[in-house]
Amino acid sequence: MEPLLEINHVNYAYHSMQGETPALQNIHFTVCKGDFIAVVGPSGCGKTTLLSLIAGLLLPEEGEILLNGKRLQEQSNNPIGYMLQKDHLLEWRTIWKNIQLGLEIQGNINSASTAYANSLLKNYGLYDFKDKRPCELSGGMRQRAALIRTLVLNPTLLLLDEPFSALDYQTRLKVADDIGMIIKQEEKTAILVTHDLSEAVSLANRVIVLSERPAQIAAVVPLEFEESLTPFERRAAPQFKDYFNIIWKELNHDE
Ligand code: ADP
Ligand code: MG
Repeated sequence: MEPLLEINHVNYAYHSMQGETPALQNIHFTVCKGDFIAVVGPSGCGKTTLLSLIAGLLLPEEGEILLNGKRLQEQSNNPIGYMLQKDHLLEWRTIWKNIQLGLEIQGNINSASTAYANSLLKNYGLYDFKDKRPCELSGGMRQRAALIRTLVLNPTLLLLDEPFSALDYQTRLKVADDIGMIIKQEEKTAILVTHDLSEAVSLANRVIVLSERPAQIAAVVPLEFEESLTPFERRAAPQFKDYFNIIWKELNHDE
């Protein structure tokens, strides 16, 4: 399959008066359309840095990142949707107005984008809440609203940086399930950063394991589950714990 995203031998270091903090070293992988990639690695190893580079917020010091064969700076409109740990919903706007925010900034509010926003709200259980304020929604609903706000912009690639880590355990399982299903149904390509190995195994079709900082790719683990399983159902599948153990070992190589 044609690669959507190519990360070619990327190096990155932060520079300050105190010196250099190497964060990424020789990161090399490709992502195809429809892939759901999970990136796991120790805290502080460089996961968020990697997403910032893919989003074009930072530029590689060496190597290059191509989306559909072109550098991000050469793309005509921003093809990246970025979802963070905090939902960053604006409290003074209704859910509907929050979801429209990106379109408003782009000047893209039209009948097609409005219809798509409405269909996402209906399909994912938020339509009856469109006139509420974010504080009137549960944590899980807020994360769904944040995802819809990203999806209405029709991104080519979705980046998710620990999007569930602010939620309590039970909500987290439910929201991971919902978000996984939405991304699949909307046929999106996604890269999820998480420190939760079970989350990675329940959602992804490939897991990239990073080493301690500066992050290098320690392993790439392809996951095979029956197509019809939801993320929650995967947790009960026989191969789940084998994958978990493989990734666990890769993460704890040095110990
Ligand atoms: P992770 O997301 O895996 O926890 P990060 O990518 O946020 O890790 O950070 C990787 C390393 O780079 C950390 O050691 C962090 O302290 C350092 N770092 C992150 N952002 C900056 C910055 N803006 N300036 C200097 N160092 C940074
Ligand atoms: Mg991080």
